[in-house]
Amino acid sequence: MDSSLPEEWKAREEAFMMRTYGRKPVMFVRGKGMRLWDAAGREYLDFVSGLGSCVTGHCHPRVVEAISVQASELLQVSNLYYTAPQLELAEAIIARTFSGKVFLCNSGTEACEGAIKLARKHMRETSRPERCEIVTALRSFHGRTLGALTATGQPEKAEPFAPLVPGFVHVPFNDLEALEEALGERTCAVMLEPIQGEGGVYPADRAYLRGVRELCDREGILLILDEVQTGMGRTGSLFAFQQYGVEPDIMTVAKGLASGLPIGAVLAREEVAASFKPGDHGSTFGGGPVPCAAALATLKVLEEEGLVENAASTGAYLQDGLQEMASRKKVVAEVRGRGLMLAVQLEGEMAEEAAASALERGLVINNIGKDVLRFLPPLLAGPAEVDALLEALEDIL
Ligand code: PLP
Repeated sequence: MDSSLPEEWKAREEAFMMRTYGRKPVMFVRGKGMRLWDAAGREYLDFVSGLGSCVTGHCHPRVVEAISVQASELLQVSNLYYTAPQLELAEAIIARTFSGKVFLCNSGTEACEGAIKLARKHMRETSRPERCEIVTALRSFHGRTLGALTATGQPEKAEPFAPLVPGFVHVPFNDLEALEEALGERTCAVMLEPIQGEGGVYPADRAYLRGVRELCDREGILLILDEVQTGMGRTGSLFAFQQYGVEPDIMTVAKGLASGLPIGAVLAREEVAASFKPGDHGSTFGGGPVPCAAALATLKVLEEEGLVENAASTGAYLQDGLQEMASRKKVVAEVRGRGLMLAVQLEGEMAEEAAASALERGLVINNIGKDVLRFLPPLLAGPAEVDALLEALEDIL
């Protein structure tokens, strides 16, 4: 294949692949740290990082080493048997979050499906089977399989696949009154992202999330936090709930967990986790030795190289720069987010064009819809890379 011809990639995709993605005209062949190289050898600064998954940067040597060592020892045995990386990872995750148990799967969507199943099963186990309804927020994103898609508060994404899964209710985000009104005899759990990612990077207010926790306690229902995008250091603490001071009953993690290899995790408080019995849930590949080894290396790199603290400080630096731009440029209406999960709301529908223009200048940034630009760089981004981004945005916008 001639790897320098976008027309040829497009033709081959059209011939052999289902058309589920709108792709940009670039083929990446190599990555290192913050940098990517395309098939023609051109260098880019990456502010998307595999949609937030390459938290330690591209091909971090310690992650690559862990993967290659594990890959040469054992690739897969299924969950009928024990493997050491899986046990070590479960212990490492619990040591860094809250007392409870972990279920390992392969993606964020699967983690959210698992969380929904666990919440419903827990209500049955505690003799409240009528409590099967999950309340989620409008504009939320929890995944693309039927349960997670129905949970997702973007009806336009789900409608073409009706009939959907019964037992989901959507309420406006950051509106405690609306949430309280939606709770009833049938409510099982409230499921929220601490910062809505795919919906446009909207952080939960601190008082809101605390209020939600109190409501859940009062009603005897579960709080599920979806930290698929906010987790693994992205917002300046290992998990966002730690900044909010609100502990969930169930939490989902994926994306950055293994620096870009497919893995997901459902965490739950001891008593809730106990509701999953042998045979209730499972996965052939979930928690395989290689992604688990990559996840263990990722945690070490994040901690030993200070990347979580860096996400907080570089994130603040980028946020300040964007705010300063917003104060001068009418086109930048709002800056949202925390740590290295940031977005600008544009005045007018120019986000796609702006992202394309950035790509031409060697900067990979993401647009959400027509009027939001999102920045999810690896957590090792520093002031120099941020300055390059701000300079380019200054020109583009
Ligand atoms: N939950 C949240 C908050 C997400 O941001 C995403 C993906 O963007 C998902 C779930 C689904 O994760 P995945 O794409 O790994 O299935």
